[in-house]
Amino acid sequence: MIMNKLVYRINILPLFAVLLFGACRQVNKKDHVDATLLRNVTLIDGNGKTPQEGVDILIQGDTIAAIGKGLDTTKTKAIDLTGKTIIPALICTHAHLGTLKGTRTTADNYTRENILRQLKRYQDYGVLHVQCMGTDRPLLFENQLYDSLRNGLLPGARMFSAGYGFNTPSTAPLSPNFWMDRLFRPVNIEAVRAEMDTLANLPTDIVKMWVDDFGGTAPKMAPEIYTAIIQEAHKSGKRVASHLYNQEDARNLVNAGLDIIAHSIRDQVIDDELVKLIKDKGVFYIPTLSLDEFAFVYAKQPEWINDPFFKAALEPGVLEMITSESYQRELRESPAYRRNKKGFEIALKNLKKLHDAGVIIAMGTDSGAFPIRAQGFSEHEELTLMVQAGLSPLQAITAATKNAAELLKIDRGYGTLIPGKVADLMVLGANPAENIKNTRKIEAVYKAGKLVSRGPF
Ligand SMILES: [Zn+2]
Repeated sequence: MIMNKLVYRINILPLFAVLLFGACRQVNKKDHVDATLLRNVTLIDGNGKTPQEGVDILIQGDTIAAIGKGLDTTKTKAIDLTGKTIIPALICTHAHLGTLKGTRTTADNYTRENILRQLKRYQDYGVLHVQCMGTDRPLLFENQLYDSLRNGLLPGARMFSAGYGFNTPSTAPLSPNFWMDRLFRPVNIEAVRAEMDTLANLPTDIVKMWVDDFGGTAPKMAPEIYTAIIQEAHKSGKRVASHLYNQEDARNLVNAGLDIIAHSIRDQVIDDELVKLIKDKGVFYIPTLSLDEFAFVYAKQPEWINDPFFKAALEPGVLEMITSESYQRELRESPAYRRNKKGFEIALKNLKKLHDAGVIIAMGTDSGAFPIRAQGFSEHEELTLMVQAGLSPLQAITAATKNAAELLKIDRGYGTLIPGKVADLMVLGANPAENIKNTRKIEAVYKAGKLVSRGPF
């Protein structure tokens, strides 16, 4: 018996030592390697409150562990950020991924490499979640690519998808390279049901549809079709976002159960009754103001045309295109020019009115749909335009962080910078509460606690 006990002791001691050593190493790893302390910074946390001056942010692993004044610097990698401001990484709830390359948007461009290249660009601009609104292709859902992108396992921004959207049966010319060839184009309610069954099998949460006659140039989706899309989507647990333009379409869609208005209402200043309806039903509103600005602004040279922050976001050939005499003349002489300019002015007024009424505004841009909607730059321009519409800089930032996270239903982990949330943030050289254009002074981007970029150039 004595022998046995001795043997037991001898055998178990090294095992115990290994376990103890292993445990120490794990503790050490947390304390020494993984902890970063961002010191003495001005913090805008995304909640819309007054910025906190001179605070320290402790990041452990991928998470914000503590925020406070004079936090303990021992066992951390401390970085002095005196004079800098931190804001949450931006979240774009309306964009298009994969199909833009150079001066063209095509189906052929949609490759894994192109998607990753664009997500890297968004990341350089401090945008760490991007939702593609209904123009994805089967490639995304093969080999767990979407799963990896959505969960941030690949470099660049995380990607959310609305799968394949719904549009009308007859459409613009369907050239072989038409980038919207994967859209569903139901002719009746039975077709909607069958198509929604396909979508139900995809790991997506939002369904996109288009309800617009594009200034009288295309047929508009029939009310019975969009009503069926909303009802069938809700049956499979998905929410519906709609492209729209007109107030009356918005009213009918919201009454039919629409969850997300994916562009500004731009035909007229919105009436109080509809404002109340949108508010009472908790419908999200994505203004995409930059889309409307880009639709006319390049008829002349905008003040940012030579700004490196703008140029770094452009695909090759786009600067030459938009600064060419022929492009500018074509834009000025286009029948849609006046309508686009007027639509933009109305969109600004409607954003202010809806925001004042308490409607949840979420940042989205439609970047990546066309070459002039530069990915990364558009998101910062969108913030500037929200402020031009009358929101305060802090309110605009909340729309692009906290509210956008709520729209994507990721607000448990993202959108605000408070202890327990994922450390997705941007270090800025100046305070955007004083001037919204200071969001462009990006000095560092942290994704899940790791430094991933020093900005676009
Ligand atoms: Zn879009």
